[in-house]
Amino acid sequence: MRHVTILGSTGSVGKNALDIIALHKDKFGVIALTAGDNIDLLEKQIRATAPKVVAVADERAAVKLHRRIKNSQPGLQILSGSGGIKDAAALAESDFVLSAIVGSAGLMPTLSAIRSGKIVGLANKESLVMAGSILINEAREKSAVILPVDSEHSAIFQCIAGHRRSDVEKIILTASGGPFANVDKKNLSAITPKQALRHPRWKMGKKITIDSATLMNKGFEIIEAHHLFGLPAERIDVLVHTESIVHSIVEFNDRSCIAQLSVPDMKGPIAYALMYPERLDNAVQRLDLAKIGVLSFKKPDIGRFPCLSYAYRALEAGGTMPAVLNAANEVAVEAFLSGRAGFTDIPVIIKKVMDMHKVESATELDVILEADKWARKKAERLLSR
Ligand code: NDP
Repeated sequence: MRHVTILGSTGSVGKNALDIIALHKDKFGVIALTAGDNIDLLEKQIRATAPKVVAVADERAAVKLHRRIKNSQPGLQILSGSGGIKDAAALAESDFVLSAIVGSAGLMPTLSAIRSGKIVGLANKESLVMAGSILINEAREKSAVILPVDSEHSAIFQCIAGHRRSDVEKIILTASGGPFANVDKKNLSAITPKQALRHPRWKMGKKITIDSATLMNKGFEIIEAHHLFGLPAERIDVLVHTESIVHSIVEFNDRSCIAQLSVPDMKGPIAYALMYPERLDNAVQRLDLAKIGVLSFKKPDIGRFPCLSYAYRALEAGGTMPAVLNAANEVAVEAFLSGRAGFTDIPVIIKKVMDMHKVESATELDVILEADKWARKKAERLLSR
């Protein structure tokens, strides 16, 4: 029996994970669940899975939840605030922590799980973007295991299984291209949040859906791949593959390439991490290549989607720059979603904040958090002009 904690259980990844767990009740026990403030859904999840602990980031929502369920769930411990989420990530009873909080809020809980020596299924790519070296070093020190949940990194992980890391020449991350893969540059500025939230292939949370539309998501994945697989930027490529069937490709030093394929459904990589190294029935549809017929690949258009080049630049600059990239992006995406910025303002803001930043070495968490704060302030100031 695997004892599981889900950080961000009310999100898209969290809900998929609970669907898989519901299919295999004999294999999983839920120890803890966490949410931001969606206590309506969290309450349903508590009744369905009977965790020992829940944590809600929003203090008031936590009090409300307590009032609602104190009589029906007497043994349940309800934690609150960011400290409560961090504590839930470190519970001794759980051996697997799914890190599926969105954005920088996922960093400290992910680190907390790693420091407690857990097997961490990592969906929260922002934590690796911000503090990848610290997370990887802590995992090594605390004998924690980081298993990728992002479909591309799960694909790479599956492709290199049984091979020597030293034989890997290159990683090729595939990208759906998002909803605007074929939209002219001149028409990008008029894009509305409603249009950007309509992803052609994947059903995901709002933030990652916008990141996919700007290709910032792919940029983050380059940085994520660098930390997970130890390759430099120049050995991580991106190919636009609109069908989203090939989830990524590994090229070996004999020019042989291995790819992982499936229909696009996050239940695949989530189930793979949850039960690794065993494979589970995950209710994903069978792949029918004859029906699909054609798989297409092309180079990404950096001219229309400059965020991808900013990620390469951040990775090459190193230190605090990736955290600055992430923070500026979070502010810009939030501004776009709330109507304070246009779609094409997102890369403009990110670039301006990066141009202003003096890179510092990022071996200390405090330095990274300070850079994050600095970048948010700069991005907000640019937005208010
Ligand atoms: P969602 O927006 O759907 O869910 C986010 C989760 O985080 C929710 O449970 C939310 O709670 C919780 N949350 C939000 N803010 C806070 C906070 N301040 N403190 C604690 N919890 C918080 O996101 P996704 O599931 O789409 O994505 C989650 C992560 O996984 C992201 O990092 C994303 O990049 C990554 N990922 C997602 C994929 C996908 O298919 N969705 C694919 C690959 C990676 P509440 O509901 O209460 O707001």
